[in-house]
Amino acid sequence: MTTEPVTDVLVIGAGPAGSATALRLARSGHRVTVIDRATFPREKPCSEYMSPETVRHLAALGVLDTLDRAGGAALEGTQVSGPLGSRLVGRFTHAGGTPFRGTGLGLARRILDATLLQAARDAGATVLEGIAAHELLRDGRGAVAGVRGRDTAGEWRAFPARVVVGADGLGSIVARRAGLHMQGPVRRIAFVAHVAGVRDLSMTTELHVSRDGYVGINALGSGVANVALVVPAHLARAAKGDVAAFFRERTMRFPGVRDRVDLGQIVREVLVTGPFDAMSRSSTTDGALLVGDAADFFDPFTGEGICSALRGAELAAETLHDALRHDGPITAHRLRSYRAGRRRAFLGKWIVERLVGYGMLAPALFDRAIARLERRGMADTLIGVTGQFVSPWKVVNPVYLTRMVL
Ligand SMILES: Cc1cc2nc3c(=O)[nH]c(=O)nc-3n(C[C@H](O)[C@H](O)[C@H](O)COP(=O)(O)OP(=O)(O)OC[C@H]3O[C@@H](n4cnc5c(N)ncnc54)[C@H](O)[C@@H]3O)c2cc1C
Repeated sequence: MTTEPVTDVLVIGAGPAGSATALRLARSGHRVTVIDRATFPREKPCSEYMSPETVRHLAALGVLDTLDRAGGAALEGTQVSGPLGSRLVGRFTHAGGTPFRGTGLGLARRILDATLLQAARDAGATVLEGIAAHELLRDGRGAVAGVRGRDTAGEWRAFPARVVVGADGLGSIVARRAGLHMQGPVRRIAFVAHVAGVRDLSMTTELHVSRDGYVGINALGSGVANVALVVPAHLARAAKGDVAAFFRERTMRFPGVRDRVDLGQIVREVLVTGPFDAMSRSSTTDGALLVGDAADFFDPFTGEGICSALRGAELAAETLHDALRHDGPITAHRLRSYRAGRRRAFLGKWIVERLVGYGMLAPALFDRAIARLERRGMADTLIGVTGQFVSPWKVVNPVYLTRMVL
């Protein structure tokens, strides 16, 4: 096994959370190494929808011009069709708050993630692709002190670091090996394809809900749409052996989808991911912190995992910048401002996501809530909240919740 030189920060995973953390810390002058098991550009199963708030983060990271030129779709909001036929439409420009701009962005993750990673590299981070992290290195006190990984040639390599950032997504190895991983009760699996020629493709993200899950349709530009099917884990077992056939059969059960989506025009294979509802016991431990999906996975229905990953990266970089300026070990105690920052940033969103997630388990109630939200002009606020530019407490309060269901 070869041992690499010690770095300040070792980031495991080069998705939005890892690249943004690396980019911010490299810009602040720290020695940062990023490793990812994939080689970029790579695909990622995701609905590829970004709200105006995500766009604001991308602008702050200096990549928005590049992404705007990449030919994505300018998205105006979200529409939801309920299991019994109710429908709501929420628009960013009507949501209140202060959206960064009137539109979000639909753009392939292949482009987004490679652009962010290149920006991290340009800022001075060392990026090593094709290396999978397997184990944590520990120091004499038991604190995390790096990782042991394996490259594509099968060679084991040790990467010692002052601090490890676990940005390795849903199912994070860093979270598992550090004993921080937890699985929630709502287990769902996603199947995601790119499809050309979807009829009447709108500039709002579409969510079609049934008793057995939901389908999202999202414009990506150039006449291509992202079509994502999300089903409970027990139903997904039937996909074994023929994922594409399962995707076609299940997707065609949705009334608002079957007449518009020609699954003969799939232009990117169906990717599978899950189960969701993963979270962490704590986002820090001695010598390491978790960011992005590794810390908390947000159900794609309320979406915005990319936004949370970028906001989490901002918080992580602030805390780490301070911690790295002092000599001595980077303990969980030193990282406490990160935990507090995450609580402030995500608690309200976490509650909204849980309310929506559990609401979907009761189709009649869910459908009624959609009808009420639309009729009473409350849908835009909800879209602003899930888009993370309107305070979640505008929705998580007795008045809003009562008006939604009664
Ligand atoms: C079906 C679905 C639809 C979604 N739709 C949306 C949406 O429309 N909008 C939105 O904002 N969010 C959406 N999300 C959520 C979004 O995809 C995630 O929140 C986001 O990707 C989190 O970024 P991340 O950097 O934490 O993790 P990831 O993007 O998953 O990146 C993790 C990286 O870690 C690498 N990695 C993993 N394990 C290892 C290892 N052992 N060693 C080295 N590298 C490793 C992976 O290769 C990957 O590059 C969706 C998610 C799903 C599942």
